Amino acid sequence: MTNAMNASSSSNSSSSSNSLHQTFSCSTIANSLAGKSVVTLDDISTAQIRMLLDKARYIDSHRKEVAHTCDGRVLATLFYEPSTRTRLSFETAMLRLGGKVIGFAGAQLSSASKGETVNDTLKVVSNYVDVVAMRHPKEGAAFVATQAVSTPIINAGDGGHMHPTQTLADLATILARFGRLNNLTVGLCGDLTYGRTVHSLIETLCRFGNVHFVLISPDELKTPQYVIDRINATESCSYEETRDLMEVIGNLDVLYMTRVQEERFTDREQYLRLRDTYILTEEKLQKAKSHMPVLHPLPRINEIAVDVDNDPRAAYFEQVKNGMLMRMALESSVLGDELCGYEPTDFVNVTEDELQSVDAHGISLADPRVHTTDENAPETLTCPNPRCITNSELTLKRKFYKADSVRHEYRCMYCDEEAENK
Ligand SMILES: [Zn+2]
Repeated sequence: MTNAMNASSSSNSSSSSNSLHQTFSCSTIANSLAGKSVVTLDDISTAQIRMLLDKARYIDSHRKEVAHTCDGRVLATLFYEPSTRTRLSFETAMLRLGGKVIGFAGAQLSSASKGETVNDTLKVVSNYVDVVAMRHPKEGAAFVATQAVSTPIINAGDGGHMHPTQTLADLATILARFGRLNNLTVGLCGDLTYGRTVHSLIETLCRFGNVHFVLISPDELKTPQYVIDRINATESCSYEETRDLMEVIGNLDVLYMTRVQEERFTDREQYLRLRDTYILTEEKLQKAKSHMPVLHPLPRINEIAVDVDNDPRAAYFEQVKNGMLMRMALESSVLGDELCGYEPTDFVNVTEDELQSVDAHGISLADPRVHTTDENAPETLTCPNPRCITNSELTLKRKFYKADSVRHEYRCMYCDEEAENK
């Protein structure tokens, strides 16, 4: 059955007014994602995140039914730096929906090696395809793409900045294990300074509320202040920081492991001492709750011992599957293609608590957190982030948003770094 036939048969159905109502409300939310780009999960509402999670669950059990959802569509995977597993996940997602894929991996294979800007590449490629998944080493590159074309862009990682589909995979994995995303104690362990997946997961869980975060890291790799600020601004969330995994492992409902990289340390002795502290083994897991899933964005180096893989708590390969399912849900949604036979479950209903929740600054937790360029920002502002794309593609217009009106704090629209006034 085609999408059009499915949509019309749903509309014509009068067997149950309740299911009709559900179909309409589902379409409303799904349609609101049609044509939309996703640079960060802050771009979309919690209702839309719920819908994507719900769709992914449906897709998993209806692979045949959804196999023609995106017939005739073409996805471009523009990978300016290699990330084979992420690229394969985006591509498999489109192929499993019936669409086709073009793209490049590694900037040396593209015109970028000849100095073409992201803007120009997107203006060319958008003529060929219906949706783009882009990974780029520079922070803000995905935002540049969204400014260049109206084709939906899905950020597949822009430097150390954002990687929204990894967070969707993490949320799906937590949801699968607990049936909820709140009332949890979530431990995050390892490199909490540079681990962008950790920042994004914390920020998104804050929007659902009622999470206690246990931040486990060496002093050199503590959670950045802007992430702590986000927890502090959310009344129902709290956190504690510790260096010692074993001291807290028994309290955790979820353990999210990340890689501690040697190059992040100035003191090699310190690195060697800490490295082993954070290697998760079956022996250490004996002190953890019997239902505590272990997550990891992969690839792992040695921070989770291989003997943990057979433990039912190991959830990191489940995350990989969930990543593909969430990309299927997201790709079909931004294309506005309805999944054949899908009807939303109760999970998509945003709770009254969520709807009314605001953070300490009065910002809604359920709505998208969209920043707008402040046209009156001082012209002397610069972005000090060397990894920001505005500092390598110098023709880009600098844009800043006001992050704090009391302190007159401005941040870069591209990479969210605090601006400097020179
Ligand atoms: Zn910047």
